[in-house]
Amino acid sequence: MELHDLTVAQLAAKLRAREVSATEVAQHFLGRIAADKVGNTLGAFLATDSDVTLAQAKAADQRLAAGDAGPLAGVPIAHKDIFVTRDFPSTAGSKMLEGYRSPFDATVVRRLAEAGTVTLGKLNCDEFAMGSSNENSAYGPVKNPWDPGRIPGGSSGGSAVAVAARLAPAATGTDTGGSIRQPASFCGITGIKPTYGRASRYGMIAYASSLDQAGPMARTAEDCALLLSAICGPDPDRDSTSLDVPAEDFTRSLGGSLEGLRIGVPREFFAEGVSADVRAATESALQQYEKLGARRVAISLPRTELAIPVYYIIAPAEASSNLSRFDGVKFGHRAKQYTDLLDMYRKTRAEGFGDEVKARIMIGTYVLSHGYYDAYYLQAQKIRRMIADDFQQAFTQCDVIAGPVAPTVAWHLGEHGGDPVADYLADIFTLPGSLAGLPGMSIPAGFGEGGMPVGLQLLGNYFAEAKLLNVAHRFQQATDFHLRKPGGFQ
Ligand code: GLN
Repeated sequence: MELHDLTVAQLAAKLRAREVSATEVAQHFLGRIAADKVGNTLGAFLATDSDVTLAQAKAADQRLAAGDAGPLAGVPIAHKDIFVTRDFPSTAGSKMLEGYRSPFDATVVRRLAEAGTVTLGKLNCDEFAMGSSNENSAYGPVKNPWDPGRIPGGSSGGSAVAVAARLAPAATGTDTGGSIRQPASFCGITGIKPTYGRASRYGMIAYASSLDQAGPMARTAEDCALLLSAICGPDPDRDSTSLDVPAEDFTRSLGGSLEGLRIGVPREFFAEGVSADVRAATESALQQYEKLGARRVAISLPRTELAIPVYYIIAPAEASSNLSRFDGVKFGHRAKQYTDLLDMYRKTRAEGFGDEVKARIMIGTYVLSHGYYDAYYLQAQKIRRMIADDFQQAFTQCDVIAGPVAPTVAWHLGEHGGDPVADYLADIFTLPGSLAGLPGMSIPAGFGEGGMPVGLQLLGNYFAEAKLLNVAHRFQQATDFHLRKPGGFQ
């Protein structure tokens, strides 16, 4: 088997057994990334630096030789460009931060490095993680390896594509309203967003702070379990919303029986608008679970539709506040010509931000302004609480919830024609779990229109990551959707 076909678990074992060196592995992946860049086929990577990567690989080899290496020693990984890194530029997909270098690493990046990973580079994403198609990046779109005429999903599009095209065995992503689950679904890979607060947000360029959460994207649930074990854990000095819940070895629960597991299937996730192919793949995944001993329970999440307006008030509100730091003074872009301070702010922000980001800052400022706050923001917060309560009601009837990740497979580049609302509507099934702060996954569950991958969404109650990962893992032991790879990326 080629090195790039190995999973994280397989690579880690080979590295520990010294069957291959971290340097050889890093060189292999750097070669694939460089070849893709020459052909400019996918656009997944925004930054690479082979000197940095190979120095990290060398250090991993030394630790492996000395026998004091972490569990992921020598395993290559690439980071969504929303995480700040000392050794690579960090742009958040925005012109505002072109060439920006952070003086420190994000906690997630640091923890993965401490576990022994070697960084391959930084991955394209929608600007400040605002988007569902990766078309909002200032550095161009990312293409879906299953059909380069289609979007990979967003905002962690580069992460999903790097993994699907075997340019990296794993990547980090962030999920504010679906940005790990939806691109994972569209690219046929596995991703998990943990419970809000389990992963530190320190060094994650902020979009909507009450929703932003980091997580791994890889090919298998087992790999996600390995990576998530390194990522999670309290970070009390640096992220005040990081929870005081100890790190956990998520691989320990893998393999448990699904006999008697109650899978809640929300009626609202099969409403009009869900395409026939997604319906069919979801249905056969549920049948597969029944074969594994699980039982279906019909449930209701009555405020599913409201998640769209609620999220698209709360997220822009928080974004408008978070993005006020980009003023041309502290870091990033500054307009070259201006008359006074106000003019400098205005020109800097006009030049540095893309259209979608500007639209959201305006919406956010509007819903927070005097006279509108009560009508929009406060109402949205109340409904957000009700959505979270609906889930608690549902979890009295079931152990996990399953349904589609998105109503359709990945659409064509440009298909939504710059209509942001078309993108917003496609987020309907990922937003409720995000608003409630619940952990969620997407696992490859079949193929639909045009041969495009379809993911199954699994949602669990707070801190049920281990259960979710096991539920996903058992499915992957019985199916091979996660092993298929896009043609042309052998
Ligand atoms: N599509 C959603 C948005 O544009 C979610 C993005 C995300 O999770 N970062 O806000």
